[in-house]
Formats: sequence, structure tokens, C-alpha cells
Amino acid sequence: MTLQIPADLLPADGRFGSGPSKVPAGRLEALAATGVSLMGTSHRQQPVKDLVRRVQSGLADLFSLPEGYEVVLGNGGSVAFFDLVTYALVRERSQHAVFGAFGKKFLSAAKAAPWLADPSVISAEPGGLAVPAQKDDVDVYAWTHNETSTGVMAPVVRPAGAGAHQLTIVDATSAAGGLPLEVTESDVYYFAPQKSFASDGGLWLALLSPAAIARAEEIAASGRHIPSFFSLTEAIKQSRSAQTVNTPSVATLFLMAEQLDWMNSSGGLDAMVDRTTASSDVLYAWAEKASYVRPFVEAPTHRSLVVGTVELDAGIDKDLLRSVLAENGVVDLDAYRGIGTNQLRVAMYPSVDSADIEALTACIDWVVDRL
Ligand SMILES: *Cc1c(COP(=O)(O)O)cnc(C)c1O
Repeated sequence: MTLQIPADLLPADGRFGSGPSKVPAGRLEALAATGVSLMGTSHRQQPVKDLVRRVQSGLADLFSLPEGYEVVLGNGGSVAFFDLVTYALVRERSQHAVFGAFGKKFLSAAKAAPWLADPSVISAEPGGLAVPAQKDDVDVYAWTHNETSTGVMAPVVRPAGAGAHQLTIVDATSAAGGLPLEVTESDVYYFAPQKSFASDGGLWLALLSPAAIARAEEIAASGRHIPSFFSLTEAIKQSRSAQTVNTPSVATLFLMAEQLDWMNSSGGLDAMVDRTTASSDVLYAWAEKASYVRPFVEAPTHRSLVVGTVELDAGIDKDLLRSVLAENGVVDLDAYRGIGTNQLRVAMYPSVDSADIEALTACIDWVVDRL
């Protein structure tokens, strides 16, 4: 089937992938122009240290980092950080609010750690939201700021009644940079570069509170075996001198630094949230209005500003729809494995223009009309 969408309906940029996400035009050229002095030199040399500093200070600016908080980074991405938490931050028992695939994966890591007690779990079905609740015998509350698998966002607030000995640890892989945040509500706010930060995968970055740093030091001194890859105290030490424990991907850091410069010079986090709000307003208004589609997430306040999920009527062949769109350069609308029955998923990270979300919905209307 060949259907050519009229050029005036098409988005300026048709990439809507939830991660890795679109890298804005011009960034790879900037990498080619600057990379010569950065790549192929030791990561212990000044140019790479300067780059790490640029990322750290860019994040500190973006999140208005409070006194005492530190930006720490290391290799392995967010899923490696799940394991790191089990080694380096949970004393005995964690609680997990689980409402999608990523929260579940973290829970599995905590369950599998033989040195920890069986976790406390609060869960919701896909499309719903679960939030942590005060419980005396846990020392960590863990949840996901944005469930990339389902398009549900969660508040980042300490559970009412939480004690000073209880850390809040938030997986913000797809949320950071696109959802509002009061940093003091989290002790560990961690993410990776390949979503809102328009870079590549492989690194984790974390905003650590003084309490989180103290916990890492306490556990490191406790005699628990911690493989060096999962040592948070070592990562903290290296990060303080703009280094990582082992060799990082320099190109990934460069692309992230460029995105942070753009974010900070365009008005910072508030301006980025304005962008994701504008995009998601367009998407959900369309999904509520068009007769053949509806938002997957029922509660409007749980609908994510950064990853939108919509359910198409059963009569619409979503694979055919997606392939026609892809032939026209509109790509990466796949739902997360096993979520929804006939779903499209649309990333609305800060780099995505709301005009392109508008164009996307017009293209879908146009194709559905002709299927
Ligand atoms: C993408 C994603 C991850 C996985 O990140 P990796 O860097 O690939 O390990 C974890 N959690 C959430 C919420 C994500 O969106």
C-alpha cells in the first residue's frame, strides 16, 4: 500500500521515539566539529574533565540544585543503577511503587538481592498510578517519575510521615528535564542521557542529597561486598574530580552537554515543562476529540507530559497505520511490548516541537481516513 501524505501536513521532524529519542538537527555536526579534540584522548585529560564538568554544572543549573546536593555519574545506564541501588543504598528493605515495566524491573532487582529483605510493594495495573506510602520498616522508597512503558507520570513528593532515615529514590530516566521537579523531595533522582537529554545511552547520572551520600558511605563501610562497578562511594569520589570510575562514552557526554546548554539558554526547566505541556495538550485533546482514538491513561492528571499513549479502535490496523506513517518519514510510534491492545506511543520530550505533535495528529487522521 502506498499512500503519500501531503507535504504540508508532515511534521518538520518525524521522529517520535521514546528512547533513544531524536537528536536535534545540527548536533551530530557539532560533534564532528568539536570531537577531534575530545575523542581519542585519555578520559583523565583536561578536555574530557572539562566536558564532565559542563554536564555537571548544566544539570546543577537546570535543576537549581540545592546546597549539599551533588551530580554523580557512572557507566551502565539506568538499569545498572537499579542494581547499584540494591548494593549501595538499600540498608535492609526497600518499598517499590510499581505501575509499569521499568518499576517492575527495579523491583525484580531488589527481590533478587539475597542480602536484602523481601521488598514492600504497592502496585497498579498498566495505565494506573501507584504511589509510595509510609511504612516503618523500609529504608528506601523507590518509584518512577515517568513510566515510559505506559505514559503515566507520578508526583515526586516524600510519602507523608516518611522518616529522616528513609531515602526517596526516583527513576527519572524519561522524566528528567521534561517534568517539573522540586529536587528536595528526592534523595536520589537518577536518569540517563538518551531521553529528554537527546543523547545516546550507556551512562547513569544522579542528583544525590546529603542523606543519600551519607547512606552510601555508611553501607560502603559496613563490610557488604560491593563490586566496584556498583560502588557509589567510588563514583562520588570520581565525580568530585569530574571523572568516572571507568572510561565513559565521550560522544554521549558531548551531545548531552549541548542539549543542556540549549535547555538552560532557552529558559531552563520551567521553559522545558512549558514545551512538554504544550505538546501533550495537543496530543490528548486530539485523542479525546477524534472518534477512533482515546487516551490510554484514564485519569487526566496521570497522563504524562513527556510520553503519551493512545488506544486506537479495534477496527484500525495499527501495524498498517505505522508502516504507512514510516514510509512518509513519521517513525518510532511503537507501544511498549505488551502494553495496551492497539496502542501508539508518542515521545514529547523537550526537543519535540508541539507543532510537530499537531502535524502528527493531522497525518494520523489523514491516513486513517484512507485505510
Ligand atoms: C529508558 C528507561 C530505563 C532504562 O534505561 P537504560 O539507560 O537503557 O538502562 C529505565 N527506566 C525508565 C523509566 C526508562 O524510561
